[in-house]
Amino acid sequence: MALYKESGGSWQSGMAKNITFIVTKDCQLACKYCYLVGKNEKERMPWSVAKAAIDYILDNEEKFREQSVIWDFIGGEPFLEIELIDRICDYIKAEMFRRGHHWFDSYRFSFSTNGINYHTDKVQQFIKKNHSHLSIGITIDGTELKHDLNRIYKGDGPERGSYRDVVRNIPLWLEQFPGGGTKVTISSPDIPYIKESVLHLYSLGIHEVNINCVFEDVWKEGDDKLFEDQLMQLADAIIDGGYYTDYACSFYSENIGKPLDPVTENQNWCGAGKMLSVDAAGNFYPCTRFAAYSLRSKAPIIIGNVRDGIDENKLRPFLTLDRLTQSPQQCLDCEVASGCAWCQGENYDAAATPTIYQRATAICLMHKARVRANNYYWNRLYRKLELEGEREQFESNHREVKPDNC
Ligand code: SF4
Ligand code: SF4
Repeated sequence: MALYKESGGSWQSGMAKNITFIVTKDCQLACKYCYLVGKNEKERMPWSVAKAAIDYILDNEEKFREQSVIWDFIGGEPFLEIELIDRICDYIKAEMFRRGHHWFDSYRFSFSTNGINYHTDKVQQFIKKNHSHLSIGITIDGTELKHDLNRIYKGDGPERGSYRDVVRNIPLWLEQFPGGGTKVTISSPDIPYIKESVLHLYSLGIHEVNINCVFEDVWKEGDDKLFEDQLMQLADAIIDGGYYTDYACSFYSENIGKPLDPVTENQNWCGAGKMLSVDAAGNFYPCTRFAAYSLRSKAPIIIGNVRDGIDENKLRPFLTLDRLTQSPQQCLDCEVASGCAWCQGENYDAAATPTIYQRATAICLMHKARVRANNYYWNRLYRKLELEGEREQFESNHREVKPDNC
């Protein structure tokens, strides 16, 4: 499945370099859908590696010309390493200032957290210190039943869900980040709970729900029909309940479900290669999804390290990726191709050979179901708005949730 990024992922979208520190491979949870097959308690990033990565990146300003930067921290659970993160962020700020770097005052620190230790003193002190440059997304999957279906504590005892320990921190998070959005991941057993989960998240005060199907081949026969039914029921609830005015759900978008032009709409979907990730050993990856702990069946793809820098020859294949070079003919001819996403890491992991040029299409039927429900949503919504004379006002206020399948 795609990696989680923070809710403010659209900050300076397209203009920002995304640099990810894999600060730990440990987490309090053992979510059943987690793509991280190699989580462990040992691989914690030493300060010397973090410092060397920052020095390399800031020393080579000419290689990192993007207007701004998102320093991203992931795990496992990043806030398990709050002391290291605090030191990293202090160093980054001091060094950007000392060097007069063009990213000074054009940066974000970004986190996707399970929310369990959000309230602790150390995390709160860090938030107070860096608030104006922070994006933090807490992952909560919906109702207690839906959340605890997957998001359980690790350990050998009886299964224990994490919902209650997360939900108690939502009011504090929303007070500090009122626009905070959450990400919900859908795999086969979650489908029946989609509608109630999105409505539940709205009821907690979360206005932006970014929701995605996993990219892995987990789907069972009939899942697409069930998925479509849930999305249509959710569409009715959003329209009848008037939520469309100030709540958003990324499933519904006016831009999905159309054919794509082979010339003007040929971009790669994901940012692998344009992003940079570094792990505890000091290795660089085109995205964390190419690190060993994220891969089920392939060797990691390392594109350099903090001592020798980035090997441009290893990076180049990622920079030449686009839609045409990796999609099968059925996708190039597809009438509903827009919005049908892929993850480069999952493409590589699922491919028959060790190539990044083979698009995985396990999501195909789910995307088609989403498109049908999406058409239903917009048809119903626009009919209602026209009857009530509110279409123009809706169109001028409407803001889509930028799909973030990563
Ligand atoms: S995976 Fe299926 S829905 Fe997506 S572009 Fe390819 S054919 Fe179309
Ligand atoms: S490979 Fe692409 S879609 Fe997958 S996690 Fe990385 S950036 Fe996201």
